[in-house]
Amino acid sequence: MKCEVNTVDVASRSTLHTSPSTLHCSLFTLRFSLISTIYTMKHLNIDIPVDFKQEDELDEQERKLLTEAKEATHRSYSPYSHFSVGAALLLDDGTIVCGSNQENSAFPSGLCAERTALFYANSRYPDHAVKALCIAARDTSGQFTERPVAPCGSCRQVMVETEYRYQQDIRILLYGQEGIYILNSARDMLPVHFDGSFL
Ligand SMILES: [Zn+2]
Repeated sequence: MKCEVNTVDVASRSTLHTSPSTLHCSLFTLRFSLISTIYTMKHLNIDIPVDFKQEDELDEQERKLLTEAKEATHRSYSPYSHFSVGAALLLDDGTIVCGSNQENSAFPSGLCAERTALFYANSRYPDHAVKALCIAARDTSGQFTERPVAPCGSCRQVMVETEYRYQQDIRILLYGQEGIYILNSARDMLPVHFDGSFL
């Protein structure tokens, strides 16, 4: 099942001269198109394709990643929120790196599961691109969330940076008991983002 999520309304599609599928397949191209047309357009509708699958529809590698993300929730340190998040990354050599949220009594000092995993992977395996990222979370009842869990804005920004760093799209799997959202790129979750080209 595929659903279209209309995430941004910035300028007209006719001004961009491209189709939603083109947008999805080539967001690096989109960035440069935006730069060249941003001063003349009034609206841009960006349609982001999101697959919605059940667990038994995942392939073997995706199922393994989901299992690792679920298990990582049990290694969460979340005595304050009691919201236990697990993240599992797949690197380009097949290595799986996991992380969980690590809270702190001084709240800003903690870190989300996704960034815990990404920063560890990027520091321990700096020569290996991240190919996929799966996230699962258990709420205060201890059960996995019904809805697919969504990463916060800061984690999305770090995921986008990782895509630019390795020039590699990261396949995103967001788990919930009712199903799994699958996106083909972290940039799909943060289509109008800040990046190094602004600096
Ligand atoms: Zn986060």
